[in-house]
Amino acid sequence: MKEQFLQRMKEYLKDEYDAYEQQLHQPLYRGLRVNTSKISVEDFKKLQICELRPSSICKEAFYIQEDIQGLGNHPAHLAGLFYMQEPSASSAVEILDVQQGDWVLDLCAAPGGKSTQIASKLNHTGFLVSNEIDSKRAQILMSNMERLGFSECMITNAHPQMIEKEMAGWFDKVLVDAPCSGEGMFKKHEKAMDDWSIEHVQACAVRQKQVLDSAYITLKENGILVYSTCTYAMEENEEVVADFLKRYPDMELIEANVTFGRQGFACEGMDHTKVVRIFPMDEGEGHFVAKFRKHGTQASNKIKYAQSEKEPLLEQFMKQQLNKIPNYILHVKDKVYYKKTPFIQLKKISILRQGICCGTIVKNRLEPHQHFYSAGEHQDAFMQVCDLNEEQTKSFLQGNQLDISGYKGYTCMRWNTYEIGFAKGDMTVLKNKYPKGMRIR
Ligand code: SAM
Repeated sequence: MKEQFLQRMKEYLKDEYDAYEQQLHQPLYRGLRVNTSKISVEDFKKLQICELRPSSICKEAFYIQEDIQGLGNHPAHLAGLFYMQEPSASSAVEILDVQQGDWVLDLCAAPGGKSTQIASKLNHTGFLVSNEIDSKRAQILMSNMERLGFSECMITNAHPQMIEKEMAGWFDKVLVDAPCSGEGMFKKHEKAMDDWSIEHVQACAVRQKQVLDSAYITLKENGILVYSTCTYAMEENEEVVADFLKRYPDMELIEANVTFGRQGFACEGMDHTKVVRIFPMDEGEGHFVAKFRKHGTQASNKIKYAQSEKEPLLEQFMKQQLNKIPNYILHVKDKVYYKKTPFIQLKKISILRQGICCGTIVKNRLEPHQHFYSAGEHQDAFMQVCDLNEEQTKSFLQGNQLDISGYKGYTCMRWNTYEIGFAKGDMTVLKNKYPKGMRIR
């Protein structure tokens, strides 16, 4: 019930409640985050896509106008140069402090805001497992990861307990951006406030504790765990942290070491000055973040690598397209994937994507996949490219054939020198290969 929720907020916020209540009637903060694995922030600004106001949370994240329309269909978005994300949502990954070469698990990953931020920071090094329990949401996660062009990643669709069974002790860093009661999103979905109930908050807390149990097991000794929610309820935040510390004495709650946000609410069993809260009064929507270090030892599952395979059709295709032979190749049914480092085999977990999907073997040829052209890993390396003007770009993204002559075979299509997809030339026209599901109207 709305009244009960607002009463709790009054008790939490005291003198600041009025400021919070006023914020509920203000437009939502909107923002975007630059995908620095494809473009520098400086070069992105030069594209002048929209007005950008810097955020104090993340140097790649910007506030944009609240009423801006159509950014999702902008060629820069479809080229994977940015991800639409309100800047305060980037706080958890900033606190996770991902370093190149890290092995990272994002246990509750869809639709991919935080996974794409982690993968941008890894910049085609290390390894990221992005897991999502819900199969439909996992597909959205996959399409976002593909659009932004990441390669050293695996996308899985599994229950955290399955992940824990196969990936014990694998990760330097684990993010649990937990399913929560979403009170921080009530500004966006005001009606949801009417459905608020303490029972739901408590049920979320039970689930959050279970997800943290799995996260704990996947973490290496000395590994870092970040727990985040987009809700205000102490039952789902400070109290979950206190319960976790009690059950796992080898986990230490550590300083987030950031200058944004404010400290948490006082709670027995944990130091509330070490956790971070963000409210709408702090130029964001509602977020809570806690950071832990694991001191105990952890038995780890042996990592089983797949034997790299041979695929002459892929080798031939790569030589034509990039003048390069892929490092590691894997066939999954009729699809071929490649990666810089060996492929990992799992026993019981459904892997939706690992590495770059190059294409499908159809009879005696390789029909390329969009991922091959969106992969930032080999950006700027295509042998045959066609640079499109604004009008041609729009027509290409709508799925039209282009009356551009002089191209034979598969051709990388670029907007402003950034890859947006591919077409097939027959010297007279370019036949459109932009995926049907991605076409704009
Ligand atoms: N990290 C995501 C992002 O930044 O785009 C948002 C994650 S959302 C807050 C939480 C996710 O947890 C949802 O996608 C939801 O499907 C998933 N989830 C729901 N129940 C779960 C469970 N029992 N274990 C793990 N994940 C769960």
